[in-house]
Amino acid sequence: MTDCIIIGGGLIGMLSARELKKSGLNVLLLEKGELGKESSWAGGGILSPLHPWRYSHEVSQLASEGHRHYPQFAQELYAESGIDPEYIRCGMLVLNSEQQKEALAWAREWSMNLSIIEGGNKIQTLQPGLAASFDNGLWMPDVAQMRNPRLIKAARGSLDTQNIEYKEHVQVEKLNVVNGKIKGVIANGKTWQADKVLVAGGAWSAEILKPYLQVPDIQPVKGQMVVFKGQPGLLKCILLAENRYLIPRKDGRVLCGSTIEHSGFDKSTSEEVKQDLLHSATEIFPALAQLQIEHHWAGLRPGSPQGVPTIAAHSEIEGLYINAGHYRNGVILGLGSARRIAEIITQ
Ligand SMILES: Cc1cc2nc3c(=O)[nH]c(=O)nc-3n(C[C@H](O)[C@H](O)[C@H](O)COP(=O)(O)OP(=O)(O)OC[C@H]3O[C@@H](n4cnc5c(N)ncnc54)[C@H](O)[C@@H]3O)c2cc1C
Repeated sequence: MTDCIIIGGGLIGMLSARELKKSGLNVLLLEKGELGKESSWAGGGILSPLHPWRYSHEVSQLASEGHRHYPQFAQELYAESGIDPEYIRCGMLVLNSEQQKEALAWAREWSMNLSIIEGGNKIQTLQPGLAASFDNGLWMPDVAQMRNPRLIKAARGSLDTQNIEYKEHVQVEKLNVVNGKIKGVIANGKTWQADKVLVAGGAWSAEILKPYLQVPDIQPVKGQMVVFKGQPGLLKCILLAENRYLIPRKDGRVLCGSTIEHSGFDKSTSEEVKQDLLHSATEIFPALAQLQIEHHWAGLRPGSPQGVPTIAAHSEIEGLYINAGHYRNGVILGLGSARRIAEIITQ
């Protein structure tokens, strides 16, 4: 007997499934494609919002929870799945920021290490090879990253070892609601029964809830990224210059992201954007001009107002819950939001 059906097997669905199972519920995860192959695969895996001082208290609260619990969570995933999700505390350097005062105040409030680095020589010591145009930075040594495709594989492995049931290539077409109460879902033309249903459908969450009154404001926001094939150690930390960032992976690859495009559910990439990302990457770190772009892709973020996810019981339908709309920060916010929705569902 299934206690709770989860719609959507991205990171948010998988983390929610893990938390609900820990609380003693029998969970069934339904995914229309393959687990974790949408936004959760496409992202950069930075374990911090970009410019975190620009976000609301709610986002900072979830990010702070993620920051505290990710080291242990990464170890648990590794132990449960045998796959190393490559949690690396590499630090993040925010270049030429004009928000030093705001950043320092935010760091004090959330007990994050953050210092101001003044002068080209000093930031070159932190990251040799930076473009000469940068002469100050905000250094956050405790910012970490996870490697998304490995994180997803590890999360999937953890579902297997925790005996959490999931089914792929099962698309939920409709919620089964009787007299204002959820009774399950209709998927692949079949009825699946449960008294509780959690919508964790990422960018598609509003589509699933469209026939009802409470529809969260969640829109797909495309992000394109490229990866360079580099040597280990070339780049030491995450570099952020306004809206473009570089992420060094353990094997020397360097990711550059990302665009913000409002183009519906279209996931296509364009040569123009590829050249733009290449240009931004070499403006930050000129040595990247010598490297090959190995891959170029796009993902659909679950965009929401101010990036605040909806983590709540549905106001109209008993037994229906939502954990969606994590926008640019689903990896760092996901741990906290999975714990929160599990508390709401089992309270
Ligand atoms: C380019 C890019 C860079 C990013 N960088 C970062 C970063 O550095 N740090 C960070 O924290 N976050 C980052 N993000 C954001 C993060 O990836 C997302 O917030 C997060 O992955 C959202 O997870 P999700 O599970 O809600 O969505 P998804 O991973 O998209 O999963 C939703 C799942 O639901 C399934 N689904 C939808 N409808 C149905 C249905 N009807 N029936 C069954 N299944 C359904 C979909 O197939 C999908 O697999 C980035 C995102 C992008 C695109």
